[in-house]
Amino acid sequence: MTAKIIDGKHFAEDLRGRIAGHVARLKAAHGITPGLAVVIVGEDPASQVYVSSKAKQTAEVGMNSFKHELPADTPEADLLALIQQLNADPAVHGILVQMPVPKHIDPNKVIEAIDPAKDVDCFTPANVGKVQIGLPGPVSCTPLGCLMLLRDELVSLEGKHAVIIGRSNLVGKPMAQLLLRDNCTVTVAHSRTKDLADVVRQADIVVAAVGRPQMIKGDWIKPGAVVVDVGINRIPAPEKGEGKTRLVGDVDTQAAAKVASAITPVPGGVGPMTIACLLANTITTASLMSGLTPPGDLTA
Ligand code: NDP
Repeated sequence: MTAKIIDGKHFAEDLRGRIAGHVARLKAAHGITPGLAVVIVGEDPASQVYVSSKAKQTAEVGMNSFKHELPADTPEADLLALIQQLNADPAVHGILVQMPVPKHIDPNKVIEAIDPAKDVDCFTPANVGKVQIGLPGPVSCTPLGCLMLLRDELVSLEGKHAVIIGRSNLVGKPMAQLLLRDNCTVTVAHSRTKDLADVVRQADIVVAAVGRPQMIKGDWIKPGAVVVDVGINRIPAPEKGEGKTRLVGDVDTQAAAKVASAITPVPGGVGPMTIACLLANTITTASLMSGLTPPGDLTA
């Protein structure tokens, strides 16, 4: 079997097109322009790239984009005060503080300061709980993106055995909740899991969120399984020249693609979905804050 390569870039473009349509309808029918505030503290180059593309894509779908760039030595109290200001601003429907924040700032205090109604990253305990019990609200962006790709590929996930490798609060745990909600049988594996290869061999759906380059081997994949590779790892690429690097996922894609029915590539798979889902969450929060039902195609 040669797996279909799931084109996350194309899916994300299509999703942003639908989001732009929802923005236009919110403006025309209800006079609401969704607004997303992105806060970055410090000059970490990778974070700056993320924040710039978030701001760019926010504006491209017709939303208001508010970018706050703070120096690395910003006192924690000042950041918390800015979050309170954004919480109170009716033009802001989503607040994202780019992580990691500098070491002198407690990320838990930052997360807890964000009004759950505007928590588009779905980091606050209130929203994590809502995902668990199935109440409407924002959903963790990367898992939501994975879920959309899986639904598109498989139509119904019911009864599938999903094995998630990784149990982080960012990816693994919310992914497990979402797949349970879609009636999968879910196994969550982690660094203490015994016989990981055998566990993965049972999976109809594999979600790899480990952060270890090409750790999931081709012979771990059950024939016909769908593989979603969340990992983003940079490895040396001497074939591109001295000192050059390239991105790979957590799965040995070439080998797995010989066995799986479909697989997400890295780059171009899950990655582009994350920002698109951040925008989807902003539509969700803007809708809920205005007493409207969020569009079903943007939520879990
Ligand atoms: P974390 O480091 O927070 O979590 C990694 C998880 O993998 C942990 O639960 C850990 O287990 C588990 N793990 C580590 N080593 C092993 C092993 N040898 N066997 C089995 N499990 C193991 O990472 P994140 O969840 O934040 O991210 C995972 C990957 O996804 C990273 O590459 C990250 O860059 C990428 N990512 C990509 C995104 C995207 O938009 N595409 C968004 C977010 C993340 P334990 O809990 O026992 O320590």
